[in-house]
Amino acid sequence: MPSVARQSFRNRYDAVVIGGGLGGMTAANVLARAGRRVLLAEQHFKLGGLATWFKRGQRVFDVSLHGFPVGMIKSCRRYWNAEIADSIVQLKDIRFDNPMFSLSTTFDRTDFTRLLVERFQVKPEAVEEFFDVARRMNFYDDQSLTAGQLFERYFPGREDVVRLLMEPITYANGSTLEDPALSYGIVFSNFMSKGVYTFRDGTEDLILLMQKELEKNGVDLRLRCPVDKIVIGKHKQVEGVSLAGRTIKTKAVVSNANLLGTIFNLVGEELWSKDFVEQARAVRLNNSSTQVYMALKPETPIERGQCGDLLFCSTAPAFRTEALLSRDITSRTFSFYYPDTRPGLGRCAIVASTNANYDDWAGLSKEDYAAGKRDLIDGAVASLEKYIPDVRQRLDFVEAATPLTFERYTRHIAGASFGTKFEGLAVSRDLPERIAGLYHAGSVGIIMSGWLGAVNYGVIVANDVDAFLMRG
Ligand SMILES: Cc1cc2nc3c(=O)[nH]c(=O)nc-3n(C[C@H](O)[C@H](O)[C@H](O)COP(=O)(O)OP(=O)(O)OC[C@H]3O[C@@H](n4cnc5c(N)ncnc54)[C@H](O)[C@@H]3O)c2cc1C
Repeated sequence: MPSVARQSFRNRYDAVVIGGGLGGMTAANVLARAGRRVLLAEQHFKLGGLATWFKRGQRVFDVSLHGFPVGMIKSCRRYWNAEIADSIVQLKDIRFDNPMFSLSTTFDRTDFTRLLVERFQVKPEAVEEFFDVARRMNFYDDQSLTAGQLFERYFPGREDVVRLLMEPITYANGSTLEDPALSYGIVFSNFMSKGVYTFRDGTEDLILLMQKELEKNGVDLRLRCPVDKIVIGKHKQVEGVSLAGRTIKTKAVVSNANLLGTIFNLVGEELWSKDFVEQARAVRLNNSSTQVYMALKPETPIERGQCGDLLFCSTAPAFRTEALLSRDITSRTFSFYYPDTRPGLGRCAIVASTNANYDDWAGLSKEDYAAGKRDLIDGAVASLEKYIPDVRQRLDFVEAATPLTFERYTRHIAGASFGTKFEGLAVSRDLPERIAGLYHAGSVGIIMSGWLGAVNYGVIVANDVDAFLMRG
């Protein structure tokens, strides 16, 4: 697609969606299916946002396709199409290896109950009650109870149990023991209902299918098209967006960009009331990530039985949030991609992910940054040797990404991988109350992040926008 200066636009749209991540694309699709004229403007040269992939020669690497809950099947069938929904398959071998325990699980309620009762010797009544309480949690519940307090209530003093229950969710959305229990409970229950799922043909196929569906439904898609400002009228209502020096008129904007970037950069602090600015400033961004992408030589594949699908491994003696974020990495999640679940790959690929602090990577000299990336790679490969002893000889490509990489490609402030902490959700929902026609649909508040959270939030917000447009 040509650069923004050479692209053409309608003079007016019913709605403009800023950003083509999963939340933005889903919002655009739902609105277009409701008969709205929609412009989707994405600053990058491809759609997907954090749901992305990259190619190096014949090798393809998925960035955030590690696992999502079964709810994606229903959401994709209803708000996208059957072809997308039918390509979602279960990952059945999830492994943990740390100084407290090593085990393999299908990561669902039945298997976790078995493990907790038989292996961890927890009373069955406590396990049942914990699952039931977690499943009943919803947004309107008590928000003062933390995840740590919830665990202490059901499994007092059991750091091993906390690790089993918490570590994967921390990787899935950056939540910690100090975050509200309900943000943990909702996401944990989503996974526990039926396990962990993936998109069989890889991220590039999913995004291609979504792009086709958007085009079929008449969305005007523009890539390499950064929106500079949201134009606000004097009665605090959306009037349009400005991009490449021109204004595109619309009454409704859905921003899929980072929540704080939307408030302070795309709108501007001067347009909000003082109390709202204070509320927005208090929203904490979620953490960022680092990753190491590894491709094995095609002639040296590994068997699924050797490593499983997902491996949460750690050398830290106990589960600690600071340890998970530290540059002195002790914990990693390895995702293994095999030719049978990823037919186009023709080889095995492995991605090592860790949660990370942006500040540990920003402001480094060029040399220190390059050295930091080398350490990331060395550490990941060394850690992998425990599971694939000759992995160094089998590798034919390795590359690393840091919080700066995520910031660069998505414009997320501080490279936030999962939007904001819990308090961001109320601020995101409040935008249209403050400026008529302004909506946000993107990773926010832990619950609305991750692939499923972002898709579902896109649907919720699109319905709000449709109702707003209907009211005229
Ligand atoms: C390393 C990593 C691993 C992850 N693993 C998983 C996982 O296993 N399972 C899971 O469910 N989730 C995972 N996630 C999280 C998941 O990928 C995200 O929560 C989700 O994809 C975010 O979708 P979103 O709708 O919030 O939009 P984003 O993906 O954040 O996209 C926002 C889009 O807006 C665009 N944009 C920003 N500003 C502008 C502008 N001014 N003009 C135009 N466009 C703009 C950006 O370019 C981007 O395309 C992972 C994330 C990371 C980083």
